[in-house]
Amino acid sequence: MNLSDLPSLRESLTAQGLLANKGFGQHFLLDLNITRKIARLAGPLEDVAVIEVGPGPGGLTRALLETGAAHVIAVEKDRRFVPLLAELGEAAEGRLTVIEGDALAVDEAALLAAHAPGRPVRIVANLPYNVATPLLIKWLTGQTAIASMTLMFQKEVGIRIAARPGDDAYGRLAVITQAVADASIIMTLPGRAFTPPPKVESAVVQIVPRANRPAPALLAALERVTGAAFGQRRKMLRSSLKTLGGEALCLSVGLDPSARAEVIPVEGFLALAEAVL
Ligand code: SAM
Repeated sequence: MNLSDLPSLRESLTAQGLLANKGFGQHFLLDLNITRKIARLAGPLEDVAVIEVGPGPGGLTRALLETGAAHVIAVEKDRRFVPLLAELGEAAEGRLTVIEGDALAVDEAALLAAHAPGRPVRIVANLPYNVATPLLIKWLTGQTAIASMTLMFQKEVGIRIAARPGDDAYGRLAVITQAVADASIIMTLPGRAFTPPPKVESAVVQIVPRANRPAPALLAALERVTGAAFGQRRKMLRSSLKTLGGEALCLSVGLDPSARAEVIPVEGFLALAEAVL
């Protein structure tokens, strides 16, 4: 069997008697037109290794393979899907590796070295919402060079990731993401696009890390500074950053101590982080 002969996702789920498990954040994309669009938006996939988190019944996985990904490494915590994914793996003739495990715990560098050495890597996933933000932080602050991430989040989280200074949603997540990468929302989807439908809308965010990523120590300092500044976002920096140096710290990097965190651009936070290293 090849990819185009596989049964529909709905047929496969019914045949295996598989129902979504809420505890695993399961909201499936069973419409291949949508998963193909996401795979196309993820960028050229030829010669690329794709890491997918949570393949579930494999709709996005199938689209990634059809779009020509050189290799897909799919990490799934719910073992019930492994037989379905094995069928997909056979049709993909060796281009799919399924890892049964927790994406928060896997070592991406080791997986890539074992299954797709030397290839550039993109991460593409319809993320389980309960662990989406910790996964993003893991990839942004980790050591594996990632060419791009094309990730489905709850829309509200997507807006926070791509927010700009002055936006209501601008906060820690925007600053930490944009200190490392360019981020923008490239697609939104209503709840009814998923089975079962979540109560909220969703958004696909494109995150492209820049070549000059801040060093790990600077990112750790940035986490401290943004934690303090946005922990008390209505306060002036001189008071929210008191324990880190307050007014003198702000003045040392040319920031107005009476400004609030919500208007400080990413570069301002990087300067503060540099100063508290
Ligand atoms: N990719 C599929 C799709 O688009 O139809 C499923 C997406 S569903 C929103 C999230 C998937 O992530 C589920 O298959 C779930 O079992 C899996 N999952 C949840 N937590 C996980 C974790 N910590 N590590 C790996 N997979 C996880």
